[in-house]
Amino acid sequence: MMGVFGGTFDPIHFGHLRTAHELLKALSLNEVRFLPCGVPPHRAQPVAAAAERSALVALALDGHAGFVHDDRELHRDGPSYSVDTLESLRGDYPDVAFCLILGMDAFLGLPRWDRWQRVFELAHVVVAHRPGWRVPYRGPLGEILRTRRSRQAAELHEVDAGRIFVHPVTQLEISSTEIRDLIRSGNDPRFLLPETVRNRIRESHCYSHSNH
Ligand code: ATP
Repeated sequence: MMGVFGGTFDPIHFGHLRTAHELLKALSLNEVRFLPCGVPPHRAQPVAAAAERSALVALALDGHAGFVHDDRELHRDGPSYSVDTLESLRGDYPDVAFCLILGMDAFLGLPRWDRWQRVFELAHVVVAHRPGWRVPYRGPLGEILRTRRSRQAAELHEVDAGRIFVHPVTQLEISSTEIRDLIRSGNDPRFLLPETVRNRIRESHCYSHSNH
């Protein structure tokens, strides 16, 4: 089973990496695939260029068994819809089950996604708890949780797609926004993200024009 972890990764940080690591173990995934998005459809456009964000992801994953960098979304024109990414992965890996990994904040936005119901035909959805977010019990997500939620990770291995699994991960209150703000105001983001990523950001000045 493959974990599919998409994000803006502007930049990637330990909140992302720790979440992926814990889910890799908890769900017995064969790999977690990190897919930086080209053009995010539902949010403000990223600060760093897509190629730079992708290079930072590659650096962060380097040497970590089970973590895979996949930049297919960068080679597609237009917005990076997750459903297109899953269709593309399905074409490449017809026999692999996918777990789309989402933070709770991202999961709450799911009903606004393009063709969001199709996601459940292509993948399971794994929701990683983030600080301050609660499982919805109303609206379209409340309803879909009542019918699709699995309480045991093992159940995800029994069918190919369509289950939702909510899993608490270590609460690291780190966000890319906070890191960008720190850098912009001349502060050091040390210990919030890997050293290799921090060094490259310092050299490329992709979040600021001053050294920190
Ligand atoms: P920004 O601050 O720019 O919105 P972000 O830190 O939320 O960025 P994204 O690249 O937008 O990072 O997130 C990609 C995915 O990772 C989303 O599903 C998001 O919920 C999840 N995520 C981000 N930060 C954390 C964290 N600290 N712990 C767990 N999951 C996280």
